[in-house]
Amino acid sequence: MSRVTRWLGGALVLLLAGLGTLAAGPAQAEPRDLDQGWEYRWGDSPFLADGTPAWTMPDHDTAWRPIAFPSNPPNRNGRRHAWFRITLPDGEWRDPVLYVYSIDLIAETYLGGERIYRHGSFAPDGSGPFVGWPWHMIELPEDFAGRTLHFRVYSDYTDIGLWGEVKLMERAELFGFILRHSAADLVVSALCLLLALLAGAFSLFQANRRNFAAIALFALAAGVMILAETQASQLLINAPLLWDFLAAGGYFALPVAIGLLLEHWFADHRPRLIRGIWQGHLGYLVLALGAAAAGWVNLSITFPVFDGLLVVSLTILLAAIAPRLRRLDPVQRAILASYAIFGALLLVDMLVAHGLLPWGRVPVSIGALAFALAIVGISLHAYARTQRDLKRLNQHLEQEVAQRTRQLQTLVERLETYSYTDPLTGLHNRRYFDELLVHEATRAQREDAPLALLIFDIDHFKAINDRHGHEAGDRVLAGVAGTLASHFRDADVVCRLGGEEFVVLLPGADAANARSRGESLMNTLGGTVFWHHDRMLGPVTVSCGIAAYPEHVQEPLALVGLADQALYAAKQGGRNRAEVYA
Ligand code: GH3
Ligand code: MG
Ligand code: MG
Repeated sequence: MSRVTRWLGGALVLLLAGLGTLAAGPAQAEPRDLDQGWEYRWGDSPFLADGTPAWTMPDHDTAWRPIAFPSNPPNRNGRRHAWFRITLPDGEWRDPVLYVYSIDLIAETYLGGERIYRHGSFAPDGSGPFVGWPWHMIELPEDFAGRTLHFRVYSDYTDIGLWGEVKLMERAELFGFILRHSAADLVVSALCLLLALLAGAFSLFQANRRNFAAIALFALAAGVMILAETQASQLLINAPLLWDFLAAGGYFALPVAIGLLLEHWFADHRPRLIRGIWQGHLGYLVLALGAAAAGWVNLSITFPVFDGLLVVSLTILLAAIAPRLRRLDPVQRAILASYAIFGALLLVDMLVAHGLLPWGRVPVSIGALAFALAIVGISLHAYARTQRDLKRLNQHLEQEVAQRTRQLQTLVERLETYSYTDPLTGLHNRRYFDELLVHEATRAQREDAPLALLIFDIDHFKAINDRHGHEAGDRVLAGVAGTLASHFRDADVVCRLGGEEFVVLLPGADAANARSRGESLMNTLGGTVFWHHDRMLGPVTVSCGIAAYPEHVQEPLALVGLADQALYAAKQGGRNRAEVYA
């Protein structure tokens, strides 16, 4: 039993004990087991004219025989009536009651010939229907000491007589006693019912519906069974037969839930056999409860029949799945292990119920608790794993995104390079120049700084193409571009305007400065020859047009047009010369 359930049980008992003490005052006699001095007698008593059973009269008769506990006397031989009696002991009692754990099946209690308690109703022939297995509180007069208590019992069930324990105690203590023995079961059944609700909800929405539905059914069946079987339920609603119907329903549904789950897990291994078993149990549940509700059979007899069926079907199930147990994953194994614990406890309970083991309270709810804890543990584990997976997935995605971003950046940079670069010469192209001009023009105006622009055009370039071929022309273009680039390295603004025309922007330079640098370039070119394969090309000459801001124009963007005019003038003037706009 878990600490929590013990603690809850303990707290409840303390509370009730405290209330009891307040109400009843101190000094009460200790509960006392009535486990000595019992006698039995088979058959039913004749009744005197005034309704008193003759067997309750003080007698001399030797038909009474001693028995250790008033249950199942020897040599029943199909008999359905038995009487038990005991002489009540001394004791200081304030408000004494006799507590009986259970009775098979109906009974009347007499004290000194007077009927003081009845469970069920006896027909004139002494028989009567099953009315449930509640616990009993038989009120006793204070002066019971030394008087004889008689039980008249009728049973057409496998057992006959009182069952479990019979105790003398104070009425005020009884409820604490019942609650103390029920607290753990109440907590476990609440836990099971909560699980049933959760698993039921999951079975509506989650992918693994069949699993969840089977687990919900199991939790519901176990929760209802344990609640119905706990003695405290009778304090909640005093309807023993109703609780027994609920207990039967829950109990009989357990193998249905187990079968459903196993059929799903072992879909490729004897599913028909497993289905047959759970469907058989479902059929039994409906038939047994239906027949008992209709009054065709006593509910009590449906239990031992079910017990027999359960032992057979659990054995078959186990044999069917045993060879495949290794295939199950740890989660399935945990659930199955909890079923096994539950099953073992049910088996012990069954053996006790049929008198094959001495009486004791079998903590069947521990099995349900094991099941509930297994499910909760599995859920937590699954939750943690999902969180871990999500985190890992997130990290992975982040890495992926970062990598893609890097790739994209590289791609963008490359594209930019392509879009701003002239592939033949490696210089910046016209697009770059246009943007650069806007930038430099704005800056020159803002800072009121000079800006000079030079346009170079190769002289008679067409003739080189014509003479040496287009490829050789390309070689010359690339060679002139290289010379330009190294010559104007610091400015870094040499661009190919198109064809065999190049442009150079010189921030901070005036026209004269630009001219001298242009002429110096022309000098360099004059001493340069280019080779195409083993053929010498050149040297080539260029013409140069120059314009400057603010010398020639107030709007730096207009420099291109002015430099072009100067270039035209240089061409007109005989080529191989630099002309400043005038
Ligand atoms: P000018 O001295 O008046 O400038 O005469 P030019 O022959 O240099 O001028 P023109 O405009 O008549 O001819 C330019 C030639 O440049 C025409 C064209 O085929 C050639 N050309 C333009 N782009 C390229 C190129 O990328 N590669 C080669 N090989 N030739 C080109
Ligand atoms: Mg040209
Ligand atoms: Mg030209």
